[in-house]
Amino acid sequence: MGSFLSGTDSNKEIDIPIFEINDIPGKGRGLIARSNISKGTRILCERPLFTVPSMEPSLLELVLAARLKALPKASQRQFLSLHNRSPGKYPFSNIFNTNALPCGSGSVVGGVYPTICLINHSCIPNSHHNWDEDAEHETIYAIRPIRAGEEITITYHQESISAIRRAFLKESFGFDCSCSGCSRSPSELQESDARRLQIQKLDENIVNPSNLISRPNESLRDCRSLLQVMDVEYDVYAEALNARTYYDAFQVCIAHGDQARASVFADRAYKGYVICEGENSPEAQRVKSLGLKPAAHVSFELCSTKWKTTRGMVPKSLDSVQFEKWLFRE
Ligand SMILES: [Zn+2]
Repeated sequence: MGSFLSGTDSNKEIDIPIFEINDIPGKGRGLIARSNISKGTRILCERPLFTVPSMEPSLLELVLAARLKALPKASQRQFLSLHNRSPGKYPFSNIFNTNALPCGSGSVVGGVYPTICLINHSCIPNSHHNWDEDAEHETIYAIRPIRAGEEITITYHQESISAIRRAFLKESFGFDCSCSGCSRSPSELQESDARRLQIQKLDENIVNPSNLISRPNESLRDCRSLLQVMDVEYDVYAEALNARTYYDAFQVCIAHGDQARASVFADRAYKGYVICEGENSPEAQRVKSLGLKPAAHVSFELCSTKWKTTRGMVPKSLDSVQFEKWLFRE
């Protein structure tokens, strides 16, 4: 790993593609790294061929036919060459449903992409996909070092235990997942399942508003537990994935007036978003400015002022263990 550059790319134009499109046994086409790719590198940035909101199949088929007709011939061919998990009735809808990525987390609008839609799934992916609302494009960033020859992967589905996850992948995309996460030994898989259940539970606790209002110490403790279990489950990949949890911790602190801790959490969230979405992503820029001005957040002192601090009150002389204890109020 020492030969990889650390740090992040600066969204420079990359002259030679850092991947190639290859046939991968049992998976159709996929993207393979041509050279070593360092963590935080933008692998791909692509505009959708089109975006369509979710709707019932017969209507979707008509809408897709109209969208396709409006595309140049080369783009039509790109769409029609994408994987179709269940050929038959509604061919356009089936291709769309096999390949579309949501335009933002939880969005009902999906987009299809000529290249990004060729990226295969892993339950422990090495890359992250993100919809940039401002630029209206999808980006793919390496969330850990990727070696030349290695397949570039994203996740189509996260967090649930292996049996549920694998059934979902089979049902929705028509494949049996054989990723490094699913190929673990039965005992390792059992441990991984236990962690994924814990991740789900902690996630639910953290976003529970009554915890935020009346038990913020518990919410912070849950954030810390979530960070720790993510580190075990995802190893070096977790740094980028943890951005969201650091942002949750920011929200807990700022709702009780604690600008000092909030600024540290926003800064950590920012570093994670830079790795998985790039310096210029709207989310990275938003949390960066919150790190500098935490009181600008809409929920500043929303619940109480009992943790009130200023941004200048971040301790300077603690060692890292003491600092983490201070940060999580332990
Ligand atoms: Zn898997």
